[in-house]
Amino acid sequence: MNTQILISGGSIAGPALAHWLHRFGFRATIVERSPGLRPGGQAVDIRGIAKEVVRRMGLDAAVRAACTDTDGISVVTRNNRRVATMRSDLFDGDGLIAEIEILRGDLSEVFYEATKDNTEYLFGDRIESLSEDADGVSVGFASGLERRFDLVIGADGLHSGVRSLVFGPELDYIRHLGHYLSFFTVPNRLGLDRSAVGYGEPGRTAGIRSIHENREAMGFLSFRAEQLAYDYRDVDAQRALVRSRFAGAAWEIPWLLTQMDSAPDFFFDSCSQIEMDSWSAGRVALLGDAACCPSPLSGQGTSVAIVGAYVLAGELAAAGGDHVVAFARYEAAMRPFVAVNQKMGRSNAAVSSPRGRLGILAQVMAVIVLPRLPFKSLLMRAMLRGVNAIELPDYAHLATH
Ligand SMILES: Cc1cc2nc3c(=O)[nH]c(=O)nc-3n(C[C@H](O)[C@H](O)[C@H](O)COP(=O)(O)OP(=O)(O)OC[C@H]3O[C@@H](n4cnc5c(N)ncnc54)[C@H](O)[C@@H]3O)c2cc1C
Repeated sequence: MNTQILISGGSIAGPALAHWLHRFGFRATIVERSPGLRPGGQAVDIRGIAKEVVRRMGLDAAVRAACTDTDGISVVTRNNRRVATMRSDLFDGDGLIAEIEILRGDLSEVFYEATKDNTEYLFGDRIESLSEDADGVSVGFASGLERRFDLVIGADGLHSGVRSLVFGPELDYIRHLGHYLSFFTVPNRLGLDRSAVGYGEPGRTAGIRSIHENREAMGFLSFRAEQLAYDYRDVDAQRALVRSRFAGAAWEIPWLLTQMDSAPDFFFDSCSQIEMDSWSAGRVALLGDAACCPSPLSGQGTSVAIVGAYVLAGELAAAGGDHVVAFARYEAAMRPFVAVNQKMGRSNAAVSSPRGRLGILAQVMAVIVLPRLPFKSLLMRAMLRGVNAIELPDYAHLATH
């Protein structure tokens, strides 16, 4: 097949899609606005059916080798005393800390390494204009480059540029879940050994986990807030916002705030979902967070993106490149899976960073009680029913590579 497909976004969904497109004989180009692969992000989880997609990608060993290997997470007091611990192997590997938990930047690198030899990567550029006609799409890039493609896929995240260009302003599709999140690398000064600790105050939560064989740690700050007006590209303003929200906080938080300024990979964003009536228009379709972000509170953004990439590429192959048929089938297959995972994100938003001390106490009690329940795996499976809520189609017979 000589179909040329442009993908905007080179994080998780974009490279995963490029992998499958190559497998099915399509040619993919990825344009990523960052000058190189973006580092940063907390550990993201690959759960349930997404593990099977990674296995089919042939990347199971590479992904597992890059995993965080975190034993579990402990709730601590302001004096660093551990009051409750949840081990990662408790719920058949699909629990709070999943068996496959990997730093977002490391997963992105695994996918990049697997695709770089057969995918064209354009770093430090972005799509500025799209003009569709009967035969294809003319694309104008910010760099001045002009190219033609058969199809364009927006895999460029919560603040997707392709979505804005083709479907209209973000405000029409975004649902704020009432929380903000920040992550950044810090020294492992607590000497954590493959473990994570979390501390809560009313309306705000902090955590630290060791990463990269305990050589470093990842700090995490999250707070409740209604939608705030800020420029999501102005990193200094974001740091100031985090600092003001954590003023007067205890535990390691004052230290985390001092580390924030020098961190190489500071990340801040709202916990939001994307809700759209349709994920495609003509020759343009959306994938991953750009189409249907379930929010980090669902713990399923990465899994939804990986499964979506597999289904989108598979349906394009099954339809012989007919995008009208393929986009419709992709959406029909993915909608129920997305709906249940978005619901999980909204439920978690209600209980995350509790507003009062009672809520924090209830959370600690849950961490103490859950591992002791005789039917804990069943319970967790019910709580995480979204992770397997799709029957994975088999496209193996369509592979050309
Ligand atoms: C730096 C970073 C850190 C993250 N940290 C976490 C985390 O700790 N926990 C969590 O649950 N989720 C995190 N996420 C989100 C998580 O990666 C996604 O929810 C999930 O993996 C789905 O991935 P995605 O590829 O659809 O979107 P994303 O991972 O958001 O990737 C979008 C990509 O598109 C690029 N991009 C954006 N706009 C344009 C444009 N106009 N043109 C070209 N490229 C563009 C971005 O630079 C990024 O590389 C993070 C995302 C990023 C980018």
